[in-house]
Amino acid sequence: MRVNAYAAPAAGEPLARVTIDRREVGPNDVLIQIEYAGICHSDIHTVNGDWGPQPFPVVPGHEIVGLVTDVGSDVNRHHVGDRVGVGCMVNSCGECVNCRAGDEQYCVKGNIGTYAATDVDGTTTQGGYSTHVVVDADFVLRIPEGIDPVAAAPLLCAGITTYAPLRRWNAGPGRQVAVVGLGGLGHMAVKIAHALGAEVTVLSQSLKKQEDGLRLGADHYYATEDPATFEQLASRFDLILNTVSARIDLDAYLGLLGVDGTLVNVGAPPEPLSVNVFSLIGGRRSFAGSMIGGIALTQEMLDFCAEHGIAADVEVIAAEKVNEAYERVLASDVRYRFVIDTATLT
Ligand code: NAP
Ligand code: ZN
Repeated sequence: MRVNAYAAPAAGEPLARVTIDRREVGPNDVLIQIEYAGICHSDIHTVNGDWGPQPFPVVPGHEIVGLVTDVGSDVNRHHVGDRVGVGCMVNSCGECVNCRAGDEQYCVKGNIGTYAATDVDGTTTQGGYSTHVVVDADFVLRIPEGIDPVAAAPLLCAGITTYAPLRRWNAGPGRQVAVVGLGGLGHMAVKIAHALGAEVTVLSQSLKKQEDGLRLGADHYYATEDPATFEQLASRFDLILNTVSARIDLDAYLGLLGVDGTLVNVGAPPEPLSVNVFSLIGGRRSFAGSMIGGIALTQEMLDFCAEHGIAADVEVIAAEKVNEAYERVLASDVRYRFVIDTATLT
């Protein structure tokens, strides 16, 4: 099947309209007519070459929502007409210790990314900035009724990437949680941590988005450009979630953790980050990382968001505005996720 898409032709080049092939629907496959595709900062890191060489042309997009238009003969859990989602991975070995534990993202053989990855048939996967995609049914999520589909799209990456560590490190009543960076991931982290019952603080570069942060569910909001912030909040937090796409001074943030506190990095800047070990040993603190979340947890997150009336704050754009949107994300001028209306690709 030949379909329209938007692709980066080479590292750092503007995206442009292309056509790509989608495979035939196999016995365990689902054909999805894509309605919306969110723009994640990871799409930008990838096509800019921040994370190393890529198999260009690359069609990014791993926050996909659409309607099922065909299913293979072995597919029982998805039906034609269902609204479904696809996140950052489209397959994994299914047999290793991590896949069996529901952590398909940590598949020992490597999960198969939704784009720029080598699929089981040897072809290169192409993502959601497109009109259709064919995905193994086991990696297709149900979008619950009651979530606006356009606002649901960013949950497939920004939602699960923040929900997973917030749950694992027990964000909840009586816990002080800080979210560093109020972008796509950060704004979902604020909403989810608030819904989990934690006391939430936003640490943003400036106070420009303070009103938004408080509206999204934060209890407190501080600017990190003000050195006084780091004195006022010393030893305050149980958990800090760093969503920043660039290098930050980790030692300054580790100083904001109480004893046994954890700083979890989900931001994935290209440069290495350094830690002075005294920032850890001086408070029995931990520095951790977390990558997206497994398929079952992603479904749990979608159901949680529906139950709590949570979804992303989105700015819907036509596909030809993708390059402009990338510039705005890079300038921290996103409120709070760009989503492509893929009807503009037909
Ligand atoms: P985003 O929308 O661009 O948000 C990042 C935010 O970080 C910005 O809005 C800004 O917030 C802050 N920021 C940007 N540059 C900064 C700088 N130089 N210093 C301090 N703060 C800065 O990006 P996103 O889509 O949320 O993604 C964030 C990062 O997470 C990216 O690196 C992405 O690749 C990564 N990611 C990781 C996973 C995972 O599985 N671990 C999944 C998805 C994405 P303020 O304006 O509030 O300061
Ligand atoms: Zn993403």
